[in-house]
Amino acid sequence: MKADQMNKDDIIVIGAGIAGLTAADELRRAGRSVTVVEASERPGGRVRRVAYNGDSTEAGGQGIHSNYEQMLAMVEREGLTQDLMPSSEKIVFLDKRGKPKLHSSSTDLALIAGPRGALDLMKFTAKYFSFAKPFEQFETAIDIPEYDNVTAAEAFRSYSKPFHDFVLKPMTHAMGNCTPEETNLYYVVNSFKLALTTKIFALRTGNATLLERLAAKQNMVYGAPAAKLLTTGGRVDGVQLADGRALKTSHVIVACPAGHAGTLVPDEFGPAKSFLSGFANIPLPLVFFFLDRPVGGGVARWFGHAHHDAVFNMAVDHAMKTPFSVPSGKSIISAWPTYPHTLDLVKQSDAEIITHALGDMEAFIPRIRQWVEHVEVVRHEWGIARYPVGAHRRILDFKTYAEGLEGVSFAGTDYEFVHMEGGILSGQRAARRAMKDN
Ligand SMILES: Cc1cc2nc3c(=O)[nH]c(=O)nc-3n(C[C@H](O)[C@H](O)[C@H](O)COP(=O)(O)OP(=O)(O)OC[C@H]3O[C@@H](n4cnc5c(N)ncnc54)[C@H](O)[C@@H]3O)c2cc1C
Repeated sequence: MKADQMNKDDIIVIGAGIAGLTAADELRRAGRSVTVVEASERPGGRVRRVAYNGDSTEAGGQGIHSNYEQMLAMVEREGLTQDLMPSSEKIVFLDKRGKPKLHSSSTDLALIAGPRGALDLMKFTAKYFSFAKPFEQFETAIDIPEYDNVTAAEAFRSYSKPFHDFVLKPMTHAMGNCTPEETNLYYVVNSFKLALTTKIFALRTGNATLLERLAAKQNMVYGAPAAKLLTTGGRVDGVQLADGRALKTSHVIVACPAGHAGTLVPDEFGPAKSFLSGFANIPLPLVFFFLDRPVGGGVARWFGHAHHDAVFNMAVDHAMKTPFSVPSGKSIISAWPTYPHTLDLVKQSDAEIITHALGDMEAFIPRIRQWVEHVEVVRHEWGIARYPVGAHRRILDFKTYAEGLEGVSFAGTDYEFVHMEGGILSGQRAARRAMKDN
């Protein structure tokens, strides 16, 4: 379908990530006419795979947690349930001398963290898990000021160093791609709950398969970045593409990353524009090292925080984590940096980033340099949302304001705690609103 062939009653979805494609799929299944305009040449957005020589892995949107009810239903609808495979998680922490300590149960973690760290872990679990204030896990729906108005670093200031090194820093790294100084307690409590109560799965051929299936049923226009929303009398009634074409429509669902949505929104929607333009996403360059052999030892993930403050302080071996997608059995090691280090990295060339990552990976896999067969740098321009102090209040205020706008809805994980399930829920809500609108 070409954009020029659409009619003005079509609903337009901007962005073919999980939120946008969910919205489009809901509308299509309800018999509505919908067109998805996507800036890139592929569906999936931040759900994407990297592949080399028959092996592949997730480079974004990695884990489908066992409580992702809507996503699991979608997997079933698309006939992919038999492809849902459990991921495995055996973790190594480096101690302060750089010696590896294997962790495969919470008892191990308590031993690794030592008596003071273990005590703090118990305190943390009791306060923020057993007695945590209730909130929706995949939706920013209520404000909890004591979680929102403090950074994770500040909230745990009185906790021991081992707790920070073996629990807090690894958790904010793995779940939030940032340091405890850069995220609020709200997000950490949510991540902790998710990590503690769920199992993780992935699709055999990559989670991107799900989104490719959804996109295959849609009127897709690829390579068509939206440049701005068009309005008449304060109501959104069209989209102007970057190539100058103006598409008329009854409703627009803006499902591109929040920060980018800020460039599309007209000045007349002042509060939305300033919120979206200032939205804190984490740019994330990831390096994938395809090795010529398995690393061995059964380790799926390494953390180096107790040892040093390296830029790439977390590594994942995808042949261990998701062996079903790596038929050769050779290791694929991904190197993960944290925000704010990522701000410097994104200005560097691929070669510089690879050199840096390789140096940091040697702490985990001393001979990695000799084993690299192929390297790929995946640059996520938006990474995942970052939730600094007060972020959840600002999201709630934006949602209230956006409810009052006509002809437009916003969808995306950025507004809902980053998880894919949140993207699906927000895509569903946007579709319902678009249907009510006309
Ligand atoms: C490395 C990494 C690991 C992750 N791991 C997990 C995980 O384990 N579990 C989990 O649940 N989530 C995970 N996430 C988060 C999850 O993948 C994302 O939050 C989610 O995929 C974002 O979906 P979205 O639809 O909101 O946005 P996106 O996927 O970003 O989709 C937005 C789309 O809009 C397009 N676009 C942008 N600008 C325009 C424009 N002007 N016009 C038209 N189109 C435009 C983009 O090209 C993109 O396709 C991870 C994310 C990353 C980066």
